[in-house]
Amino acid sequence: MREIRKTSVEISKEEFRKIGHKLIDDISDFINTIDKRPVTTNKSPKQIQNILGISSLPENGIPVAELISKTTNLLFDHSLFNGHPKFLGYITSSAAPIGALADLLAASVNPNVGAHILSPMATEIEKQTVQWLAEFIGVSPNYGGILVSGGNMANFTAFLAARTAKAPKSIKEDGLSNTSKRLTIYCSKTTHTWVEKAAILFGLGSKSVRWIQTDTSNKMDNKVLEETIKKDLENDFKPIMVIGTAGDVSTGVVDNLKGISTICKAYDLWFHIDGAYGVPAAVIPKLKTLFEGITEADSIALDPHKWLYNPLEAGCTLVKNSQHLIDTYSSHPEYYNFTNNEEGFAQNYYEYGFQNSRGFRALKVWLTLQQVGRSGYEKMINEDIELSKYLFELTKKHPELESVSHNLSITTFRYIPLNSKKDNDYLNKLNEEILNELQTGGELFLSNAIVNEMYCLRACFVNFRTSKKDIREIIEIIIRVGKKTQRNIKMEYVNIKMKG
Ligand SMILES: *Cc1c(COP(=O)(O)O)cnc(C)c1O
Repeated sequence: MREIRKTSVEISKEEFRKIGHKLIDDISDFINTIDKRPVTTNKSPKQIQNILGISSLPENGIPVAELISKTTNLLFDHSLFNGHPKFLGYITSSAAPIGALADLLAASVNPNVGAHILSPMATEIEKQTVQWLAEFIGVSPNYGGILVSGGNMANFTAFLAARTAKAPKSIKEDGLSNTSKRLTIYCSKTTHTWVEKAAILFGLGSKSVRWIQTDTSNKMDNKVLEETIKKDLENDFKPIMVIGTAGDVSTGVVDNLKGISTICKAYDLWFHIDGAYGVPAAVIPKLKTLFEGITEADSIALDPHKWLYNPLEAGCTLVKNSQHLIDTYSSHPEYYNFTNNEEGFAQNYYEYGFQNSRGFRALKVWLTLQQVGRSGYEKMINEDIELSKYLFELTKKHPELESVSHNLSITTFRYIPLNSKKDNDYLNKLNEEILNELQTGGELFLSNAIVNEMYCLRACFVNFRTSKKDIREIIEIIIRVGKKTQRNIKMEYVNIKMKG
């Protein structure tokens, strides 16, 4: 007979079932009524603090049923829902419901996916997930890699591997101080802010980033890229890597990856692709040429919590030769007993990235990939792109809207009042005000982008709940808010003039 120790953390079998079933019922109702709720409730941090209540750490325990029920309400009533059909801001997708079940299951088994012996099945599932992600985007299934928390971490993981591979051999022991030439890296000026963080974090310094200008189609200008590399070589710098973006965060542009790969080969540089947002679109046959060159990448960052519709957090680093990860991250302290046995290679994920103890974030990705399948993803991603085109077309036709850009599933446009002079400063201010109104109004959620010095409204479609009807309604809302905001701004001008 098992002796059952009484502790305040264990939950009895009956209680767990009862509370768990009720939670699942509540979540199911929540998902099925999400479109009836406001996208966000627009409360100030102060108001939210008051609702939460100020209290000190509880001295004694509180019953689980009470805690779960209270917390469910707090979250359902005071969150921003990126799962709402009219959420098109930034790049967080609606969360695949199977992801919620996967996280529950993963937390229940609680494998430590740092070492094979601590997570035999979970480790193999993560390996398979990495392989499937490589297959998904159309690179060799021999790419290795690791799941991480998101795009920033996926890019960091690859960046340090590139540094190990291309910097002088002694860098791991001697650090950067022993490199006689300054290491430099190259990317388009549209590259996400992670690059700056990485350059600081890994000791190169932000001045070692060469922000290459873009051409007329907003891709990195590969001619300027090559000239810059040449000039740096002449001046005794040590170029180590070029970053191509596959779907830039503002407007969705994919760099000329093929061209970048040719330059990387010519100058022996690491070729990294930041595909955090856009690279899943490579699954669509008619977009193959847009992603040409992807198979040459030494490393690729992608984000299952973006266009693969997984709940946060899930990012992935893929590397052509996973030995580069081991060269960078592996060390063997004497207190680890994680050696391989003859029955096959035991992959220990702590040797492939920054983390030591690791959660089982692969499970939700693995399950969603199977629930949907390649063809299902192809259809959903294509529909997202079609919806973004639909919005672009509607904004083009509308007399009070100006369409600005459309790439992958990102559309930018701006509101222009009828009979207004096209004064760019005024329109920038007006559209910024409109965005603020929209973001706090709770009817929809967009973000912004600056395109050719125009402040634009930006819609990014990574949302399997958005329909064509939502888009027509979104246009109506924007026009209504646009007219109102324009009147208010005019009043402000009149007031300023009268006072002045
Ligand atoms: C979102 C994004 C990132 C950052 O990813 P996180 O998951 O937010 O850390 C990096 N690069 C690009 C191109 C992105 O779209």
